[in-house]
Amino acid sequence: MKKINIPPTDHVKVLGDQGWVGLIGSLGSEITILNAARVSFGKMKETMDDNDLVLLEYLISNRHTSPLEHVVFTFSVHCPLFVRGQWHRHRTWSYNEISRRYTEVDMEFYLPEKFRKQAPVNRQASVEWENYDFTEIRKEFDDQNKKSLELFNKLIEQGVCREQARSVLPQSMMVTFWATVDLNNLIHFLDLRDSEHAQWEIREYAIAIKKLISPIIPNVAKILKW
Ligand SMILES: Cc1cc2nc3c(=O)[nH]c(=O)nc-3n(C[C@H](O)[C@H](O)[C@H](O)COP(=O)(O)OP(=O)(O)OC[C@H]3O[C@@H](n4cnc5c(N)ncnc54)[C@H](O)[C@@H]3O)c2cc1C
Repeated sequence: MKKINIPPTDHVKVLGDQGWVGLIGSLGSEITILNAARVSFGKMKETMDDNDLVLLEYLISNRHTSPLEHVVFTFSVHCPLFVRGQWHRHRTWSYNEISRRYTEVDMEFYLPEKFRKQAPVNRQASVEWENYDFTEIRKEFDDQNKKSLELFNKLIEQGVCREQARSVLPQSMMVTFWATVDLNNLIHFLDLRDSEHAQWEIREYAIAIKKLISPIIPNVAKILKW
């Protein structure tokens, strides 16, 4: 059996190669969207032509979204716990995640290459931190990650159950999950998360997803200006 915490062949690395998002599989294509739209006329086609591009653009720009729901993607995501928290707010996705209760998979922790400053007014935002040497902060951050892991291992050695011991692990812990979503809800996610209002880390994943799926739905990608 293969381990699931390694990226699938088709993947994009993010967060300075510490995270990734990969494509496990997809169902449907652009012709599926067009045929779903044509179900109401009782017709379907095998290939696309220029008229279809007009219809595709019409569906997307007029928010005629249900035909998009017939295209489905399954991703494998390797990300820090805090990104997973944001991702799982998107309730229209289906998720399954590696469990610390069942696995001995090596634990990894996200160590940012650089840090951002707290935005002075907006508490939800951050700003670039220019011309600063992050060596010391990164070392402290890394030490803290290691201390958490040491305590986790110590608790396990002392016989504490995994489901309690895991609560000492930090938000920087990397987790791996599968996530399945239809194209309509994926576009909604990408609108919200590849945005300057979203946190930089989850935005990296949204940009990576656009790269992964654009070859499968090239005209949709063009219409949405990805
Ligand atoms: C920049 C940013 C900042 C955020 N900050 C915060 C924050 O500070 N605190 C916080 O709690 N959250 C925050 N969120 C999360 C946000 O509130 C949403 O939970 C998240 O973006 C998922 O959006 P969604 O509900 O539209 O997506 P999905 O859950 O995928 O739902 C898609 C759509 O389906 C419909 N839908 C889904 N479930 C229901 C339902 N139960 N009832 C009715 N309609 C439903 C809605 O139309 C919804 O838009 C933030 C999100 C972003 C992008």
